[in-house]
Amino acid sequence: MQALTDRAVPVDRRPLNFWEKMYLPGIFRGMAITLKHIFRKKATINYPEEKRAFSPVFRGLQILNRDEEGRERCTACGLCAVACPAEAITMEAAERKPGEEHLYREEKYAAKYEINMLRCIFCGFCEEACPKDAIYLTETFAPSSFEREHFIYGKEDLLIPLPGEETKNPQA
Ligand code: SF4
Ligand code: SF4
Repeated sequence: MQALTDRAVPVDRRPLNFWEKMYLPGIFRGMAITLKHIFRKKATINYPEEKRAFSPVFRGLQILNRDEEGRERCTACGLCAVACPAEAITMEAAERKPGEEHLYREEKYAAKYEINMLRCIFCGFCEEACPKDAIYLTETFAPSSFEREHFIYGKEDLLIPLPGEETKNPQA
């Protein structure tokens, strides 16, 4: 069997001449590329201090909407969950009790409403399916986190907060 060294490409071992030792052509070529890029418009921005404008069709975090009197619009009909291709929405319906008309617009409401942002693909089908204009997608995205449970958005995070209420949804 032929030895590996016999098949190796011969290496040019002649000593370098003066110009080759200076590496000047290579240095000038590199400097020219650097200078060319110094005067070009930067491709990057200082995120998060600077942010790029979203595309007009961008779809981000969902919001659960209220009506003009501050009542929850969602009637827990479940159409958004059925339309959701990622099965990211879970909810539990409840009956409105007498005296709760100022809280919920219809006889039924969502006692629990959750969206798993790790499953959501922000397709917007939930918004399209909703007959009550109760859910829509906004121009923001879920803040990053190392904890998976931080991406489960409950009703308290999705619903537009009443004055004084807290939410983790920056657009709500
Ligand atoms: S945007 Fe799409 S994937 Fe996300 S919750 Fe709505 S229907 Fe599901
Ligand atoms: S958000 Fe709209 S579609 Fe979804 S359960 Fe509520 S009312 Fe129905």
